[in-house]
Amino acid sequence: MLLRLSEILDSLENFKIYNLYKDPKRVILDNFVIDSRKARKGSVFFALKGQRNDGHDFVKDVHSNGAEIAVVEKKLDNVGITQIVVNSSIKALGKIAKSVIEKVNPKIIGITGSNGKTTTKELMYHLLKPQIPIFRNPGNLNTEIGLPLSILNYYNREKILVLELGISKKGDMENLIFLFKPDAGVFLNSGSAHIGNFENEFEIFEEKSKLMRSIKKGIAVLYGDEERFLKLSKELEKEVRSFFFGQKNGHVRLLNWKYDSKNFKTFANIRLFSENLSLELNGIWNRGQLLDLCAAMCMVKGMGFDIVSSTLNNFSPLENRFSVRTINEYIVINDTYNASIESLKEALNAIKSINARRKIAVLGSILEQGRKSLETHKKLGEIMKSSDIDHVIVYSLFPDIEYSVDIMKDKVVMVSSELDEITNFLRTFLQPEDLIYFKASRGVEIEKVMEKICSVY
Ligand code: ADP
Repeated sequence: MLLRLSEILDSLENFKIYNLYKDPKRVILDNFVIDSRKARKGSVFFALKGQRNDGHDFVKDVHSNGAEIAVVEKKLDNVGITQIVVNSSIKALGKIAKSVIEKVNPKIIGITGSNGKTTTKELMYHLLKPQIPIFRNPGNLNTEIGLPLSILNYYNREKILVLELGISKKGDMENLIFLFKPDAGVFLNSGSAHIGNFENEFEIFEEKSKLMRSIKKGIAVLYGDEERFLKLSKELEKEVRSFFFGQKNGHVRLLNWKYDSKNFKTFANIRLFSENLSLELNGIWNRGQLLDLCAAMCMVKGMGFDIVSSTLNNFSPLENRFSVRTINEYIVINDTYNASIESLKEALNAIKSINARRKIAVLGSILEQGRKSLETHKKLGEIMKSSDIDHVIVYSLFPDIEYSVDIMKDKVVMVSSELDEITNFLRTFLQPEDLIYFKASRGVEIEKVMEKICSVY
């Protein structure tokens, strides 16, 4: 979106500005970045201090790339670029996005949950887009940094916003709902993702609940099959209307489903309020993804919009998040985007129904588990042991995954932290019509193994 420098300055409170060459009303900006390599004419560069790099070290480069403005936490000498000096560049980024949103005052739908946020967001967008102009955060830009950047770069003053609110530690949700005050919320599930940063699973549930508790008047969509969500719904503000989705209880229920694993189709029967829907969906959808669909439908219908099932004809499970296809005579399941115990279970259940010569899993660690890492990886070992996966290849770039090896040792055919060793082994081991399932947390980048084996990626 286009913003004048004057509008940016109006949205900030305490700042100093240096090297201002033009009237701020005449400085037009259209690109907001934290990565100096993406800076160009028209850019505002936010210098953030990351774990590895400090953005302040790149302000000079940004200037030579043509950027107009740098938002910094300390004034830099010998840098010609216009500098806005603030206490916190992250907070400044948030404030600018917040003021853009406040001017338009759209309805904001927030999505929280340990698994399925991106899938639900994309489904909701897909169902609503033909009915009303709608904005959703691109990809998984779902944090205190990613969400403001997506607003500043892509928002086009649409009247409905669907945002996934990603949290990884205590306090994150408060920061997000301060920036984007939700009128409606979806609480999908609550599991063990990022448990390393929390005391226990209850704390994770409580942090996510803050989204629902923050809604003053509007709609709450909650998972109906667990008592804690029903209890939470009773504690919400009086003027909030709760809707539920699930398999057992809810306004939208996943009744049953089956796969055509030759043609990669999923047939699902869903109870949608008082209607029965029989859907033929592209691809193999695991139960989690089907529940995400129920949640998305529940919100769309709860808001008073229609569910036009034919719009789903051109939707398939998202790439990297349990997407199944045939490549080079193998059935390849790309679940490389992220990992948790819950999403692994859903994937393995779906894999049971797919026919293949042999079923092979290439696994890496589930990260951000902190002191629970041993427990998590032992669970992973147990789950793999009782699954119908025949062989497991362990990519131990992060050693945590090795906690699982003893437990599933009858299935393990290779353990290595070397990418080349793993790929060379797979090249000789794989046979046509094998199913290969790739799964690990984002940091492991297990897609690198997959890309080497399946040249299409
Ligand atoms: P998020 O945005 O919350 O990380 P995604 O939609 O990106 O979730 O999906 C991440 C992983 O979780 C994928 O492996 C996907 O198949 C799985 N998944 C999606 N929805 C669910 C769910 N409701 N329960 C369990 N796993 C799920």
